[in-house]
Amino acid sequence: MSHTTAPPSLREFAFGLPKAELHLHLEGTLEPELKFALAARNGVELAEKTVSEVTATYDFTDLTSFLAVYYPAMRVLQTAEDFHDLAWAYLQRAKEHGVVHVEMFFDPQAHTSRGVPFDTVVSGYRRAAVRAQRELGVSAELILCFLRDFSAEYAMATLMEALPYKAWIVGVGLDSDERDNPPAKFAEVFARAKAEGFLTTMHCDIDQAGSLENIRTVIEEIGVDRIDHGTNIVEDPELVELARQRGLGFTCCPVSNSFVTEQMKTDEIVGLLRRGVKVTVNSDDPAYFGAYVADNYIALAEKAGLSHADLAQLAINSFDASWMTPARRTAHVDAVRRYAAEHGVTLPS
Ligand SMILES: [Zn+2]
Repeated sequence: MSHTTAPPSLREFAFGLPKAELHLHLEGTLEPELKFALAARNGVELAEKTVSEVTATYDFTDLTSFLAVYYPAMRVLQTAEDFHDLAWAYLQRAKEHGVVHVEMFFDPQAHTSRGVPFDTVVSGYRRAAVRAQRELGVSAELILCFLRDFSAEYAMATLMEALPYKAWIVGVGLDSDERDNPPAKFAEVFARAKAEGFLTTMHCDIDQAGSLENIRTVIEEIGVDRIDHGTNIVEDPELVELARQRGLGFTCCPVSNSFVTEQMKTDEIVGLLRRGVKVTVNSDDPAYFGAYVADNYIALAEKAGLSHADLAQLAINSFDASWMTPARRTAHVDAVRRYAAEHGVTLPS
């Protein structure tokens, strides 16, 4: 028997909505409890003694103040088991938020620069990704990010180190502090990565000096397959039109934006959505910003007055902008459409 029912609350709808997460830093999923457990396991002395003392340090005003807390925390990650445990904790949480596919960033240089071997990092993360498919039915891929505040030479050396692990790494990205580290600094590294068959994405952070010029470089010169953040593109309507025509995905992170700029950048994200640009909603560094992916859908919806259908469109975008095969993408988009229909939500065909 079928009958029409009122749609569930936005919150319930957002959690159950099948979605892909495309902007997630594994190192940014380190919850205080796990940080203490890993510190104890590895005999690392921490300055903070309680969860609330750790949380009190998460009072960021901009990207630089965030990174000053973010990197020192990574000392507790030392063995492949630690990296596995970190990713596994995130993947279980992601499942609760309706994630069925995730493309996860990891920062090998945050670890190799302090003496942890590349293999230790990638093999721990890979084991969690394989386990997620088997035990949770969540497909999980890895994206290697270069830290842009290190040299281009170190990035190239890291790319060379990653070549034997190609089968485990779907693409490469660029993150950390964009100030004085524009995309052009890594043009050669990205050209080589493409030649080696990696897909590419780059962070174009919110409201950086030269944001729009950097976005232009990333689209026109580097030729990336996707952009992380990048909503300053709204400053140039012609570039927006180019991005729309190319079907370029933008991985937006509303709650993260509100931490580093005091605004979710709602107008920019929703403006791009309405113009048919493939914007997606993601959590970035959820342990630090206190919001996993469904929380980000809900925060954006509440702030911008989005409908159930808008949230479903964002979920469709998350699959369209993902690096799955076209056949898998279509199957996931169909699942979103079924989910919406089952909950009495009508989508444009
Ligand atoms: Zn990010």
